[in-house]
Amino acid sequence: MKKESLFAAIDQRQAEILSWGNAFFDCAELGFQEVKTAAAITALLDQWNIPYESGIAMTGIRVTLGSGSPHIAFVSDMDALPCKSKNGTVHSCGHSIQTTLALTLIRALADCGLPKKNSGRISFFFTPAEEFIDFTFRDQCIAEGKIRYRSGKQNMIAEGYFDDVDCVLSAHANGETEYLFDINSTLAGFLAKKAVFLGTASHSGAAPHLGRNALHGAVLAQNALSFLKDRFPASAGLQLHPVITEGGGTVNIIPDRTVMETYIRANDNATLFAAEEQVDQCIHHCAAALGLGCETETTPGYLPLRQSAEMNEMVLENMLLFCEEDQILRNVVSGASGDIGDLGFLLPAVQMGFSGIKGQFHNDNFTIADKENCYIRTAKVLAGTLFDLLQKPMHQPAEFAAKKEKYLKQLEKRQNLEIFTES
Ligand SMILES: [Zn+2]
Ligand SMILES: [Zn+2]
Repeated sequence: MKKESLFAAIDQRQAEILSWGNAFFDCAELGFQEVKTAAAITALLDQWNIPYESGIAMTGIRVTLGSGSPHIAFVSDMDALPCKSKNGTVHSCGHSIQTTLALTLIRALADCGLPKKNSGRISFFFTPAEEFIDFTFRDQCIAEGKIRYRSGKQNMIAEGYFDDVDCVLSAHANGETEYLFDINSTLAGFLAKKAVFLGTASHSGAAPHLGRNALHGAVLAQNALSFLKDRFPASAGLQLHPVITEGGGTVNIIPDRTVMETYIRANDNATLFAAEEQVDQCIHHCAAALGLGCETETTPGYLPLRQSAEMNEMVLENMLLFCEEDQILRNVVSGASGDIGDLGFLLPAVQMGFSGIKGQFHNDNFTIADKENCYIRTAKVLAGTLFDLLQKPMHQPAEFAAKKEKYLKQLEKRQNLEIFTES
């Protein structure tokens, strides 16, 4: 069996694949609510007589083909974003393409009878809730015990679904139209910080000296945070963008409560956690300088993505079967984030990028313009890579269990359900 058989199987089903792509693009659902999407996936799997496990992390699905070792995971996001009009949802991050790619790969592998018995397993994970949004709903689900964390992959990791996995392959649409693919891009990590400044209310005209102005604390802290950026090299990619989400209230009362929130984004974990401590210090010291009280809370976002060089070699070889060197963009340092970063912290992981999008990401004008590249060419690159990974297996790193323990502790320590539930 050669990998060309897989490519031929994809070509043969081109019309079907494009129709799945259109249907999933029209079925945009928020994270942990991808009910229709999940039903459409399982309907196809039922039709194909391929067994699966559904209801993982609420709406997630796992399909395993083959048996034995190695165990390769292919992860594909399922969720969409709210319309800018807030009237419904829209696939403006291209996750419907990932769902379609996963189904294409499952169908093509099954058509070719791969993986052969005892020659390795490929598990396809349809993962809910990649976008880190919609906290009121998600925190309600957490309170009801349906999930533990706000992201699909975080929940699947915690539930042990990746415990016996050796490596992880994935793909995401990119915004680079002049290239067909990108390889070895990084993603930033982030933490969400909330600071509540507490003062004393008083008459702002008659007796301001009897009050303590909480808003002043937030303004001082915003200045301190902008100076803090100088303490990290530009390559660290530190981004702080504090906003005041509760200002002060009434103009003739000295504000006694002001809330400031910021994401802390950075290209690496060391910067992320060092910056988090320093942000905390800035906030607390600025509050203390003005005689204010202060409470801070941190929620884990995602870890920065570092891709596996070894796996990317294989991805690159397969990209070059379908395009020229100069059609591949390399080593982009992206300010965006994704929960593939968490998987990449634990296991060798790849998220290749593919072009073909018109419009802006996270904007209602997002459209899939080059369907050939998004669905067909990308599926072939991924199919070829899976084929190669079965021949030249990656192995789960020895430190997986220790790293996972540390990772879960980190999530637990910083988890705070109250943070975003206040309106
Ligand atoms: Zn997105
Ligand atoms: Zn995305």
